[in-house]
Amino acid sequence: VTGVQTCALPIWLGGDEFVVMLEDLSEVPENAAVQAEAIGEKILAVLDQPYLLGGRGCHSTASIGVTLFGNRPDSTDEALRQADIAMYQAKAAGRNTLRFFSPPLQVAVNARARMEDDLRQALKANQFILYYQPQVDRGGLLGAEALIRWKHPTRGLLSPGEFIPLAEEAGLILLVGDWVLEAACTQIAAWAHRKETAHISIAVNISARQFREPGFVDRVLAVLNRTGANPENLKLELTESMLVDNIEDVIDKINHLKPRGLGFSLDDFGTGYSSLAYLKRLPLDQLKFDQAFVRDIMTDIGSRAIAKSVVSLGQALGLTVVAEGVESEEQRGLLASLGCQSFQGFLFGWPLPLKEFELALPGFAKGSAPK
Ligand code: C2E
Ligand code: MG
Ligand code: MG
Repeated sequence: VTGVQTCALPIWLGGDEFVVMLEDLSEVPENAAVQAEAIGEKILAVLDQPYLLGGRGCHSTASIGVTLFGNRPDSTDEALRQADIAMYQAKAAGRNTLRFFSPPLQVAVNARARMEDDLRQALKANQFILYYQPQVDRGGLLGAEALIRWKHPTRGLLSPGEFIPLAEEAGLILLVGDWVLEAACTQIAAWAHRKETAHISIAVNISARQFREPGFVDRVLAVLNRTGANPENLKLELTESMLVDNIEDVIDKINHLKPRGLGFSLDDFGTGYSSLAYLKRLPLDQLKFDQAFVRDIMTDIGSRAIAKSVVSLGQALGLTVVAEGVESEEQRGLLASLGCQSFQGFLFGWPLPLKEFELALPGFAKGSAPK
């Protein structure tokens, strides 16, 4: 099987992914590999031919992953999975190239398959939990960001970086995302009953794939209805990568949800590709500028300049600006002097499980925030 940008499972074959199957290759694996490689190179060369598109000269590149299955009784899924892994190797090697699936890759494939099974199990067995990290301003606690963790039965507590990308690839992010929304909205509804907590809003991270789903708006509205959460206390964090594909769809979805009272924030701002023209058109409430700039703000003039421009940009567009990853009093002071009013980071509070977050509430409310 030669997978030209193939994906793990046939249902996930995207619009730019194709499978090429070669028949009657040599019985000798080495020879079959040479034949497959020659044909792969031919495909690359043909795709590399320049062509005119709307009068402009263009050319296309492809990444090809190859696996030989001979007469082995592997399943189709297995062959596609192997081609997929090899294709990612080709992409990582700089694109417009070809890679073969190899035994060491098999180890990676097995580990990935095991994690996928574990993820499915985690959804059934309720192994996810939400941690809450405070967001503060001058007056004290503004709200909390909900950050998912996975209590893996054998590997301990896993952070999102260790399983969210896999959930996205395996098409499980919709289920995980639904779980997070449901859990956050249930918490908003529970906090509404107590004076000390009724004002706390929860920010939920939305993955690009989840947001792109045609039923996204309905899913959010259904969760709000089911849980009785006040939409004013729910904020959705989007990332810049969502804006590149279909900005009209993003605007449309935000416009459907905003009248219900939900807020929208642009996470990790400054790390993606969003153009300022897009930003002007997006009906957002908040920009969160990425912790990478905060990390270096004391030492790097560039980071400081970026922080300053993001704050001015936010102000000019009428958005609140939150600095993420604030760890020291010096960083907070400098950010405040640039006009940044809202903060999140270890200086104010770590992400905590619900009970510990609630116990720490009186401390946040006093406002360890800017003077
Ligand atoms: P993010 O949304 O930018 O979340 C902020 C990350 O920065 C969190 O990592 C948080 O623990 C960490 N952080 C907070 N304060 C500080 C600080 O002062 N210093 C440093 N060095 N780090 C700080 P975490 O919890 O590992 O989450 C990582 C990313 O995973 C999140 O980045 C978000 O993009 C994603 N994520 C988390 N929960 C979810 C979820 O429920 N759904 C989706 N789709 N993605 C999620
Ligand atoms: Mg976030
Ligand atoms: Mg962030």
